[in-house]
Parts: sequence; structure tokens; C-alpha cells
Amino acid sequence: QSFDELDLSPIMRKAVAEAGFTKPSPIQAALIPHALAGTDVIGQARTGTGKTAAFSIPILEQLDSLEDCRDPQALIIVPTRELADQVAGEAARLAYGLPTEIAVLSGGKNMTKQLRQLENGVQIVVGTPGRVHDHLQRGTLRTNKVWSVVLDEADRMLDIGFRPQIERILRKCPRNRQTLLLSATLPAVVRRLAESYMVQPVVIDC
Ligand code: AMP
Repeated sequence: QSFDELDLSPIMRKAVAEAGFTKPSPIQAALIPHALAGTDVIGQARTGTGKTAAFSIPILEQLDSLEDCRDPQALIIVPTRELADQVAGEAARLAYGLPTEIAVLSGGKNMTKQLRQLENGVQIVVGTPGRVHDHLQRGTLRTNKVWSVVLDEADRMLDIGFRPQIERILRKCPRNRQTLLLSATLPAVVRRLAESYMVQPVVIDC
């Protein structure tokens, strides 16, 4: 399969080519069409499978401009600061050609800088559960415009003990949002989270 068979805009095809991707990985080929259709997806995928681009491409494709919406539209929750930086970097690379405001809300980052960025307007938030939850508590992160929530490495986040924060974040987001859950394994705790917070998810195993 080629990226031409996925329903992507010319600018995204250019960004993907510019990133050096010649053909979609299995998780990308399987997940992108569902994500573009607004369906909830559980993707069983490890690192190195191209999962970051799999959820970033459909988000970037559907993003309203900062002029049209100043509040976050997509919330990407990851287990660690390092992964938050990596995911934000990959999303920024794929946003090539389009001005895209991405905020990294992780414990390692300066709070004042995060507050200023949120004030100025952000389209995508990439963050760790603790710090994202912190911003929700303070009222500095608005979630009423969020239409996509990604839980990346969900099994790892639950292992670390982030279930309460993740659940509170999900409950704060609009009900008619899309939820994409990526996980290397699908133990009962992950399935229970999916059952409670996702709507008829499609399961993809790559
Ligand atoms: P990930 O599994 O998201 O951590 O991605 C692993 C690496 O594969 C990253 O460096 C990506 O930039 C790269 N990558 C993702 N999708 C593709 C693709 N379709 N073709 C080539 N490389 C890719």
C-alpha cells in the first residue's frame, strides 16, 4: 500500500514524503482511515511500528487553524517526559508547511512557559498524565474544544499508576470526542479503561 491510497491532503502527502516515509507501516495503513472517519480505535502496537505518525497524521489533517480555534483540539497523553518530547517532535515534523501550535505539558518543563503558551493559543497538547491533570485542576487547560484524545502506551501509563489522572482527564473531555488508545499489550486494566471511556472501538493488532 502507498500513502496515495490513504485519503490525505496534498500538503500531508508532501510532509510524509519529506519525512522520508515511502509507504505506510501496517499500523498506519490500518489506523489512519478509522481515525479520519472519527471512529474510536484500540491499536496494539509497540514502539518502532510508526504508531506516533499513525495518530499524528489524522489529527494534523483535521486540525482547525489557530485563528478559528485558540483552545486545544487534540490531547495526546504519554507516560514519560522523554516520550512527550519525541511525540511533539514527530508531530511538528509532520506538520511541515502548516503553522501548528503544539504545547508539551510534562513535569520536566517550566510551568510559566507552559502557562504563557496555553494563554497564547494551542492546537495540540502532548503531555504526561500528572502535569496535564495539574493544568486541568488549575483551570489553565481548557478541554471543551478537544475532539481527539490519544492514550499512547496505555499499558505503561497504567503500570506507573496514572489511572486516576487518566480517568479524570477523559471525564473532562467532551463526550463526542474520538479516543485512540495505543498499547503494546492489552491486559484487563487496559480493556476496562477502554470499555468505560471508548465508544465501540475498532481493535487493530499490528
Ligand atoms: P514510532 O513507532 O512512532 O516511535 O516510530 C519509529 C520510527 O519510524 C520514527 O523514527 C518514525 O519517524 C519512523 N517512521 C514512522 N512511520 C514511517 C514510515 N511509514 N516509513 C518510514 N519510517 C517511518
